[in-house]
Amino acid sequence: NPIRTGKPSWLRRKLPSGPEYEKIRAMIGKGQLHTVCQEANCPNQFECFSARTATFLILGATCTRNCRFCNIDGGQPGPPDPDEPRRVADAAADMGLRYVVVTSVTRDDLEDGGAGHFAATIETLRATIPGVQVEVLIPDFQGDRSALETVLSARPDVLNHNTETVRRLYSEVRPQADYRRSLELLARVGEIAPAIPAKSGIMLGLGETEAEVRQTIADIHRTGCRMLTIGQYLQPTPRHLPVVDFIPPEEFDRWRRLALDIGFKKVASGPFVRSSYHAGEMFTGSEK
Ligand code: SF4
Ligand code: SF4
Repeated sequence: NPIRTGKPSWLRRKLPSGPEYEKIRAMIGKGQLHTVCQEANCPNQFECFSARTATFLILGATCTRNCRFCNIDGGQPGPPDPDEPRRVADAAADMGLRYVVVTSVTRDDLEDGGAGHFAATIETLRATIPGVQVEVLIPDFQGDRSALETVLSARPDVLNHNTETVRRLYSEVRPQADYRRSLELLARVGEIAPAIPAKSGIMLGLGETEAEVRQTIADIHRTGCRMLTIGQYLQPTPRHLPVVDFIPPEEFDRWRRLALDIGFKKVASGPFVRSSYHAGEMFTGSEK
């Protein structure tokens, strides 16, 4: 009795369940924390949790922006909770994580955009879990160079900032962001902290053309960024932008080869790829 979801067959996947998953879920709940894994109902939770990776959302679950692809509520967020870095670190330790991705909503209301809170979270994770690797997935900080310096000074293992889509679609997809500003942020990572790898990601299926995707991949490469994720956009609710195309797996393979040919070192490309998909393997090099 197949359920018609409107999705092509390669995008049908069972959501996680079972005792192990419930245990992890309970730990996250205990720390009153948000993970992107659960909030976005990410289909990769089993894989990521068993690879001891998860993505924490810090600085609240209310965003000062409202991108048309994103299911996080817009509005006026509360002040940052100074105890949050410790709770993230404790939860990550309880979950046995070895590779922690830390991301946030965009906090245009804060002087430093939340950069200090990112740095504190990286430092607390390192102090709590010996040998942990930390990837940060940061907002654009409205182009504030010193905010980026603050995050980099805490020495994350990877600095990720998503380009999300092609230049032409920015006004429709992420109206408060700026294509050039995001590329500039990626370029600055190399200037400020050349030892820290920069990473970026795009979603396909929003109506971009092949030429535009090629241009975007080349633009990201030109910043010095060498790690790239390419995934399928999925509409989180009917109020969000519709999916224009479901890209078949073999086309994702083609984009992966193209990105590697251009000179990217690590590329994850596929219908289920998210910014943090196989993030640990991507960083340590067991996946290309
Ligand atoms: Fe969580 Fe990212 Fe893995 Fe999804 S891909 S389960 S959001 S770490
Ligand atoms: Fe979602 Fe980030 Fe856009 Fe906020 S800035 S709406 S968290 S994608």
